[in-house]
Order: sequence, then C-alpha cells, then structure tokens
Amino acid sequence: LTQLFRPLDMLGMVYRTIRQGLIDMAEMFRLMDTDVEVSDKPGAPALIIRQPSVAFDNVMFGYDKDRTILNGLSFEVPAGRNYAVVGPSGAGKSTLARLLFRFYDPQSGRILIDGQDIKEVTQASVRAAIGIVPQDSVLFNDTIGYNIGYGREDATQAEIEMAARGAALMGLIDRLPKRFDTEVGERGLKLSGGEKQRVAIARTLVKNPPILVLDEATSALDTRTEQDILTTLHRVAEHRTSISIAHRLSTISDADRILVLNEGRLEESGTHGELLRYGGLYAEMWSRQAAEAEEMGEAAE
Ligand code: ADP
Ligand code: MG
Repeated sequence: LTQLFRPLDMLGMVYRTIRQGLIDMAEMFRLMDTDVEVSDKPGAPALIIRQPSVAFDNVMFGYDKDRTILNGLSFEVPAGRNYAVVGPSGAGKSTLARLLFRFYDPQSGRILIDGQDIKEVTQASVRAAIGIVPQDSVLFNDTIGYNIGYGREDATQAEIEMAARGAALMGLIDRLPKRFDTEVGERGLKLSGGEKQRVAIARTLVKNPPILVLDEATSALDTRTEQDILTTLHRVAEHRTSISIAHRLSTISDADRILVLNEGRLEESGTHGELLRYGGLYAEMWSRQAAEAEEMGEAAE
C-alpha cells in the first residue's frame, strides 16, 4: 500500500517545488524519475567529442505509442555551426531538444553527437556536453553565486565572475551590497524575467559546453531585453555548435541554416534568404509575423 502512495507524495512535492519556481528542468526530471525510461547500456563508454556535430537520422518518436510526434526526422548540424529550428506550435521542436538531452530514447532511428549514437554512451557524458537555456529559467532559493555556479560543481569564484560578466549581470551584481552572496528567490531578491534568463545564460557559460540548445530562450522577454540577451547569446554561440529554437523568426534570421519543422518532419531548410525565395511554410510564417509586428506598431501609436 505504501508503494501506491509514494508517486502521489512525489507528485505533490514536485508540484509544490515547481510552484515556488525554484527548480530547473533537469532537477525536475530527476525528481519525477523519468530517467527510468532511459538507462545506460552495461559498460557504456563516455561520449568523446572532437568535433561536436549533431545529427538526427530518421528519428521516430512518440510520448505514447498511438501518437507519433517525430516522423522520421533527419538533419545534421556540422560542428561549430549555428542552426535554428522553427515551425508551428506543436511541431515537435521542444521534443527534439529533449531527445538530444536524452530525456527519452527514440522508438527508431539514431541521434548522433560527433558520430556516436547517444544511446551507446553514458547519459551523464551526453548531458555534460550540452547546455540548455530553457524558455522559463527557474532559480534555486540560494545565492546568486550558487545559482550561476550550479552549471558545474567545481566552478571557482573567478569563473563565476567571468560568466556573470559574459551574461551582462555585473551591472546588477555591483549594485547589490552582498554581491554574489545575495540571496535570490522567495527569501531574497526578486529578479525580473530578463535577469533570471541571464542567470541561466551565466550558468551555461560556467558549464562551457561544446553544444548549446536554446529553446525559445528569449520569447518571454520584451523586445529590448531580448535584443540585449540575443547579443550575449550570439557571442556565446560563436565558437560552439548551437541549435536555437525560435518562435519569433526575426531573432534567428542570421542563422547559418534554418530547419523548418512541421508535423515532426523536416519540411524545408536553408538560409533565411533561400527560404523566403522558396515561398513555402517559412515564407508564409515570415509574412504573417511581419504583418503582426506592423499591427502592433500601429496599435502602439
Ligand atoms: P513545439 O515545441 O514544437 O511547440 P513540442 O515538442 O513541445 O512542440 O510538442 C509536440 C507534441 O507533443 C505536441 O502535440 C504536444 O502536445 C506533445 N507533447 C509534448 N510533451 C508531451 C508529453 N510529455 N507527453 C505527451 N505529449 C507531449
Ligand atoms: Mg516548444
């Protein structure tokens, strides 16, 4: 009987913790124990990265077996390139990020990092290679320094400061009497959405991963904060392999290549210019967003 109650207790705890907004995605998955869906093969080696390319090879995936979300998705991001993924809501963009981080395994097909199937190597080594900046960054009820250093257990104070600088947080921190020791969250300083986002970026800088995944990392921000953060993110992504999932197309138009996802398949891919000339789904989304932006502009006058 106690067995029966346990998952409920766990859910209650997860729910309360999420409500407090003090938890990150990986921690949430750990608490919910979804990792049981994915386990290391006996004796699996660690991922070895020389050239951090990312490839999906005919990946099929569904959360339930009667509904497929990714329908044979294939694409490749060469090492050091900055790619974007766009597409209608529900197309499977966040699912793609979750599969790459190995929260789930595909039903068929392969996901490769630097030519190695991520199913054949340890989950920990895959996660160590990837930095994810999620849409809603949530902080631990601890100091701002702790929250930044959480990206890597052995981070030094100097590394934390460097990351804070890279994420344009020093202006804020210098204004705080206790600087990096300032408590944030419910017990202390309330940070704005943009500031929390920068903490998440700083965390990623401390982690210093070869692969960066940004899942609509700036979609909740006002245009000016978004511009600030995009500048930082571009700098961070420059020498890495990155995948930026975006809702607002204007934020990714300079990507090396844009992958257009629709109903779990790659529908189009190319540069911004190529896709506009092609006149398909991307071009349609682009003109719709341009019209919306114009309307908003008029409404603001
Ligand atoms: P996008 O990020 O492109 O908007 P998602 O990858 O989040 O789309 O979702 C793709 C589809 O998968 C949606 O129909 C969504 O409802 C479904 N989905 C997402 N997460 C889950 C889940 N944990 N369990 C079941 N279905 C899910
Ligand atoms: Mg999504």
